Amino acid sequence: MAKSPPVTDDIHSFSPIGHLRTPFADKFGIPRQPSLAPHALGTLQLLPPYDRPEAVRGLEAFSHVWLTFVFHQTAGQWSPTVRPPRLGGNQRMGVFATRSPFRPNPLGLSLVELASVDTTEHVVLTFRGVDLVDGTPILDIKPYIPYVESRPDARSGFVGGAPERLAVSFSPVAQAQCAKWRATYPLLAELITDVLAQDPRPAYADDPQRVYGIRLYELDVKWRCDGRTAFVETLETP
Ligand code: SAH
Repeated sequence: MAKSPPVTDDIHSFSPIGHLRTPFADKFGIPRQPSLAPHALGTLQLLPPYDRPEAVRGLEAFSHVWLTFVFHQTAGQWSPTVRPPRLGGNQRMGVFATRSPFRPNPLGLSLVELASVDTTEHVVLTFRGVDLVDGTPILDIKPYIPYVESRPDARSGFVGGAPERLAVSFSPVAQAQCAKWRATYPLLAELITDVLAQDPRPAYADDPQRVYGIRLYELDVKWRCDGRTAFVETLETP
């Protein structure tokens, strides 16, 4: 009988350098890639023993960084093929041909803009354009190096170019609520616009009367969609 490979020698474990705080309280509605919602800010306070200024020395001179993280909410669930949302959810592609969160090793990779590096009390990094759920464990940060990593003429398979965006309109009630929350979340209306413009409706959902809810911070944003415009109705506090 063939001997099984000594897998135990090849298991690597990693522990987070911190947990990213983001506006996205749950997975539904999160943009499908980073930078699609430039008003989505994420903050990362490094955990000890990494929480020391010298660990980020020089980082502030980079405009963008790669975040490596754990898809902790889908860990342990994977299959060899997945249905990418870009194909309308009705065609299967190999998991390794996609950016699906359901992977054999639940590792994610996001290119984000580095907005600030604060080392006054703790090391706190702020990023723009995050696509991660609140509390996502971050494993690593690396500077983005455009001369090697930017390939504008690369082929991108079934993904193609940027998806079409929806127009976003706010009801008078939602406008007043955004104004009220502006003191706490200064860019709330912009964030809602970024998120809904991505058309986060689940595949096949095209009932213009159906009301969806997206959790941003402690708010439940209620909206409808006729396929071209997302209508923000109210912001509820559950
Ligand atoms: N840019 C990353 C993520 C792409 S998948 C990469 O390419 O690896 C993006 C989706 O991951 C989001 O729409 C969201 O639904 C999901 N997601 C974000 N954070 C997650 C987490 N911590 N666990 C599981 N899924 C997550």
